[in-house]
Amino acid sequence: MLDPTHIIVHYAEIGLKGKNRAYFERKLKENIKNIKIALRRVRQNTLESIKLVQGRLIITLSEEGKNQPDAIASALKSIFGIAYFCLAEHHPADLSLLRSRVLEITSDISYQTFRITARKSYSNLPVTTQKINEDFGEALIERDHKPVSLKYPELNVHLDFLTAGAYLYLVKHAGPGGLPVGSSGRAIVMLSGGLDSPVAAWYAQHRGIHPIYVHFHSIPYTSEASTEKVRQLARILDKFQRPTKLYLVPFATIQEAILKSAEPRFRVILYRRFMVRIAEVIAEQENCWGIFTGESLGQVASQTMENMYVVQQAVRVPIHRPLIGMDKQEIIKKAQEIETHDTSILAHEDCCTLFIPKHPVTKARLVDIERQESALKTQELVDQAIKNTQLEYTTEK
Ligand code: ATP
Ligand code: MG
Repeated sequence: MLDPTHIIVHYAEIGLKGKNRAYFERKLKENIKNIKIALRRVRQNTLESIKLVQGRLIITLSEEGKNQPDAIASALKSIFGIAYFCLAEHHPADLSLLRSRVLEITSDISYQTFRITARKSYSNLPVTTQKINEDFGEALIERDHKPVSLKYPELNVHLDFLTAGAYLYLVKHAGPGGLPVGSSGRAIVMLSGGLDSPVAAWYAQHRGIHPIYVHFHSIPYTSEASTEKVRQLARILDKFQRPTKLYLVPFATIQEAILKSAEPRFRVILYRRFMVRIAEVIAEQENCWGIFTGESLGQVASQTMENMYVVQQAVRVPIHRPLIGMDKQEIIKKAQEIETHDTSILAHEDCCTLFIPKHPVTKARLVDIERQESALKTQELVDQAIKNTQLEYTTEK
């Protein structure tokens, strides 16, 4: 059996970033360190060091880490920026020693076809990788009498020769790709308790955004359980990232004001314009350059091009909608994959579903909305909501 002591991490697009490459590598390294946070339940230090070696990261596992390679692998599968990674044994580049080790670790594996994949990233090795493939392959054939399949091998024995020695592994695990969280800066993610916005948050993180979550609640019209659900979703999204801020904004007073003075069919648009105004204030405080939402075109009455236009006009900061072109089924599938689905579908009240008429406007006009708002003390309401906003963190610092 292979006894991993190291993990080789290959990153996705970071290699393409030219001069910024060092910056991206540093972000990825920081994110990998957060595995310690992810594994906090175990309360042990699993990683001894992370080093940048010849265009990849090499993690040295601590004694505790060596006992739980599967837990670490499962954490790495959620670290954005990783293309793939391998749990490896590290040995000196001594070919006869390596050959006997390959025979040892494969002795309890049953397979029908195999290949040896030697790669070298330094020039002092006295033989070619082709020669290594042939020699090691012969040794396996002699013992197991199984044929080589270069294209579809059941067993693939990898040997990477770096300046620091040889790394031996059998499996390449896929990471989530994308860019390291934080490498694209911060943005506000408007997080409801529903299915869509956590998926939008995932896509923001996937492209390197460090999210600042903002949630609007209507306590006392909505329950504390609804807010707890949002906390839970933020925790799932951040389980392998740094602790993130979650702003909880009281929204009931604004809804009451809208209820009193505006025509019912305009309510949703008015709610939404107030939400983005508040989000914009937080964006400025937090040095964010965008707001992410979980809207997709035509999914509900409020999510038309016209309505999105009218909502955008309330703020200067751009509103991003990563799910804009996705069908509900695709969003559900993604939510399952990122493990937010089961929490999202728990019954909850959302402030936006409160006091909604049967036929909300689907093609709002800016003039109509502005007329409705002229009866409201917009700035005062926004200031008051900001004043009463609570700040929490998604995971322990
Ligand atoms: P979701 O599944 O994310 O709740 P939805 O399909 O229910 O979305 P809407 O209720 O129209 O759609 O909300 C659209 C977007 O507005 C949400 O994806 C979210 O980004 C934001 N939003 C809605 N309600 C809230 C809230 N209470 N707090 C924070 N953001 C919200
Ligand atoms: Mg919703």
